[in-house]
Amino acid sequence: ERYLASIGDQRYLNIYVEVFADEALDQAKEQDGRRSAGAKLGKLAGVVISIKDVICYAGHGVSAGSAMLEHFVSPYTATALQRLLDEDAIVIGRTNCDEFAMGSGNENSHYGPTRNAADPARVPGGSSGGAAVSVQAGTCLLAVGSSTGGSVRQPASFCGVYGFKPTYGRISRHGLIAYGSSFDQIGLLARDPADIALGLELIAGADNFDATAPNKPIPLYSQASSEGPKRIAYFADLLESDALDPAIRVATAGALQALREQGHTTHAVTFDYFDYVVPTYYVLTTAEASSNLSRFDGMRYGYRSPEADTLEETYRMSRSEGFGTEVQRRILLGTFVLSSGYYDAFYGKAQRVRRVIQEQLRGILAAHDFILMPVSPHLPWHVGEQLDDPVANYLADVYTVLANLAGLPAIAVPTEPAADSHLPVGYQLMADLWQEEALLAFARQTK
Ligand code: GLN
Repeated sequence: ERYLASIGDQRYLNIYVEVFADEALDQAKEQDGRRSAGAKLGKLAGVVISIKDVICYAGHGVSAGSAMLEHFVSPYTATALQRLLDEDAIVIGRTNCDEFAMGSGNENSHYGPTRNAADPARVPGGSSGGAAVSVQAGTCLLAVGSSTGGSVRQPASFCGVYGFKPTYGRISRHGLIAYGSSFDQIGLLARDPADIALGLELIAGADNFDATAPNKPIPLYSQASSEGPKRIAYFADLLESDALDPAIRVATAGALQALREQGHTTHAVTFDYFDYVVPTYYVLTTAEASSNLSRFDGMRYGYRSPEADTLEETYRMSRSEGFGTEVQRRILLGTFVLSSGYYDAFYGKAQRVRRVIQEQLRGILAAHDFILMPVSPHLPWHVGEQLDDPVANYLADVYTVLANLAGLPAIAVPTEPAADSHLPVGYQLMADLWQEEALLAFARQTK
């Protein structure tokens, strides 16, 4: 009831596409009933969560923030969500996001922008902007989001909460609406990394519906502790770059200093490929998106143009009317990079660059426990400020897309905003493949 009241009081933030108010209350009452009857309840009994509007929940709408799927009802439940429901989590609603998770400001949603609770004139980040504000504004305890290139860490840092993406493959993608399949991962946002650790422990692991989620043992993330001094790498020249907002430079340097004071060692390292990170990411993800989104053709799913008289018109008009500008731009880009004659020059080459990027990052992580770096070069901008400049939005993804290109786990850690600012700032920690246990345990020390 408190969370629902909090949603009601803050409607202007536009956090939710749909609130499951009656159902959530019924679930809570039903759990109370079972508790009074002496039944054993799940590990998440009473825990209220939000789900990003890209996570399928049987019998519930899921639209990926798009007119294309505005009236679509999912026939099945995502594996990750099912595992939370099996532990008695209560889903309070589905959160607003950029259309098909394409964006960094939550301004590409069919349902309008979500607003940052720290300053409603500003964006909450994206694409999981609603997810981040759902935690920031006190409307749930844990938010389930998704990350293709930073969509959990960047909004978390814009909203002053923790946001975590695991190693590619750690969590099943079954029931997550696909954007770039070799990048997409479900991620979690919360006020306390301990809650993220427990959530991950419950949802991680193999799934017959996702061959990219391997059968690896799942550590007890919620029990792990971080022992002894750690070796932390950072990119010194990046901290001197003019591209970085001064407040973020100060926050990142402050985080390194605090860790040194706690007895950890910090080590300046170099990474040679920053200039290639954003182009590589946008070549590969638009290619994968153009393929994934070809299923929304007006026939099989969702929106069908009422004006179309032929099959060709049905495809063309449904897609032109159903998809927003940014999604159409990316489908065009992706179709181009995959087209005959260009495939090797763009897609093939970007795949090779991705491998080189991963090898250099993993080389650094072979000699260090974590890499510490900024999440975004910018603080949250004003709603509407960057709408006309997609390239400016793309370039701002430089620090987050690294982990997705390399498949690495990473977490955004909030810091205290500077004394003269009301805007949240965070930094991120990245670890080697499958090292979530050490990463989350270490992040817990920052609380
Ligand atoms: N901002 C990035 C993009 O637009 C990342 C989005 C995401 O992680 N889903 O692709």
